[in-house]
Amino acid sequence: MSKIGIMGGTFDPIHYGHLVTAGEARWQFELSQVVFVPNRHPPHKEPREVSDPEHRYLMTFLATVTNAHFTVSRIEIDRPGPSYAIDTIRELRRTRDGDDLYYITGADALQQILHGEWRETEQLLGLCRFIAASRPGYPVDSSVWSSANHRLGERLRNVQTMEIPAMAISSTDIRARVRDGRPVKYLLPEAVEEYIAKHRLYSGMPAETHPRGA
Ligand code: ATP
Ligand code: MG
Repeated sequence: MSKIGIMGGTFDPIHYGHLVTAGEARWQFELSQVVFVPNRHPPHKEPREVSDPEHRYLMTFLATVTNAHFTVSRIEIDRPGPSYAIDTIRELRRTRDGDDLYYITGADALQQILHGEWRETEQLLGLCRFIAASRPGYPVDSSVWSSANHRLGERLRNVQTMEIPAMAISSTDIRARVRDGRPVKYLLPEAVEEYIAKHRLYSGMPAETHPRGA
């Protein structure tokens, strides 16, 4: 039986906040590996608001390929329609029967979960554990937990929090920096920075190239 971390996200683009979170979760919870799962279509966003899933998949691959404990899954990229965590966890439960699954998030995603904003939150908390990392700007105070308590009760035992070195980095800020011509160096891996420049992502120029040249 293995302890597997699942790091879901839009990764538009992936940055050091994601990588530090995954690395700390692996260390603190003694996970054997962390599987990064870029979504195809984030449920709360219009498809045209996010970059092509293949770009996001390839950037996630570039950022994680040198870490022996990190892998990337196409499970959500290849599933049509909105990407719900519950569908992904159900599928992973089938293929990884016997493994312990730990879904890793930041504090902002934890707040959504505790407010019941994710599809089938209760069932989700029954199928895997959650590890929520601290994130600047998103305090997880006791009021959030107590309001969640009414709905989720016992299931909250499956949610744990972890402190990580504060990383005030977001994909939103990186996209704005690229668009405005401000530096992004040291906020994300160099290979991802170069990929963004090569494909002119986020620069506001209309001709965004498809990763496979289509
Ligand atoms: P955006 O600004 O486009 O929403 P993001 O930086 O929040 O992007 P996501 O792909 O939305 O990145 O996040 C994927 C997961 O990583 C979420 O659970 C989020 O809470 C977590 N996360 C992202 N950045 C950080 C960070 N700096 N510290 C801790 N957790 C983070
Ligand atoms: Mg986000």
